[in-house]
Amino acid sequence: MKIVKLVSGGIDSYIMSREITDGINLYIDFGQKYAKQEIKALERLRVKFEKITINTTDTSAAINSNFYINNRNLCLTTLACMFYSPDIIYLGANKYDSHIDKSEYECEKMSEILSRYASEKLNGKKVIVKSPYWNKSKEQMIEEFSDKQKLLDTFSCYNPINNKPCGDCPACLRRTVLLENIGLKTGVKLSERIIHENLNKIHPKDRDRLSRLIFYLQKSSKVTAVDIDGILCECSNKPILEKVPIKSNIDKLNNLGGYNLLFTARLEVDRKDTEQWLKKHKVKYDALIMSKLPYHTLIDDRSKKEF
Ligand SMILES: [Zn+2]
Repeated sequence: MKIVKLVSGGIDSYIMSREITDGINLYIDFGQKYAKQEIKALERLRVKFEKITINTTDTSAAINSNFYINNRNLCLTTLACMFYSPDIIYLGANKYDSHIDKSEYECEKMSEILSRYASEKLNGKKVIVKSPYWNKSKEQMIEEFSDKQKLLDTFSCYNPINNKPCGDCPACLRRTVLLENIGLKTGVKLSERIIHENLNKIHPKDRDRLSRLIFYLQKSSKVTAVDIDGILCECSNKPILEKVPIKSNIDKLNNLGGYNLLFTARLEVDRKDTEQWLKKHKVKYDALIMSKLPYHTLIDDRSKKEF
């Protein structure tokens, strides 16, 4: 049984390389602009790995404009097949991985394609692409991993600056929030841009991710959640755009500082009107979260009725 594990120097594949001791760890340098830093991370982490270098074109410009490379993993697994003729190729992908080409479904498709086309020299044997962590979240993976301190030596950034994480890309955000939330000091300062982008992008249904980000923000800033109806505008049956603002509360909110999140039970379909109303009445806020916990009454020692 020949096993190839694709490693990148990031958290998932590092944990995988430690937990699955069989097989070869393989790093593929296809000209990604962060290859140098990833290779350094693998060396720091003392992961024994082999390397394939495919430097056909300078892909750094493409990577700059789009963080995600279509079918990247199909390309990488195809190369792994060409060079190593493996039975199994492991990827470090977790339950909530944001890269769609790491899902169980996509890997099944990849396995089919590779078994059919890329393995002539394998004499018809099947190639299976899979992840050992499809049933685990990244938090679970980290929680169960004993050598947490070592995770500080991993590297995941799409746009390193002077060999350091940029603090402004989705990979930096994920890694920094995860590690800082378990008490590890990454030394990475996340930009306000990436924080705001994520506060506004995370779907309220994805409460875990939102909670993690808010938990992280609370470590260094005040985070206030404010209701809209009854606090920023008078409760009434009027259409959203005609609701009467409560100016004194809006003023207080605008002067609070820290991160201010608006929490409302209004529906997602009302978002546009709500945003328009907030703009019209000059409400300053960091995120509008169209979701509340589905309780009739929330009794909370840290909740207030007023500012
Ligand atoms: Zn980055």
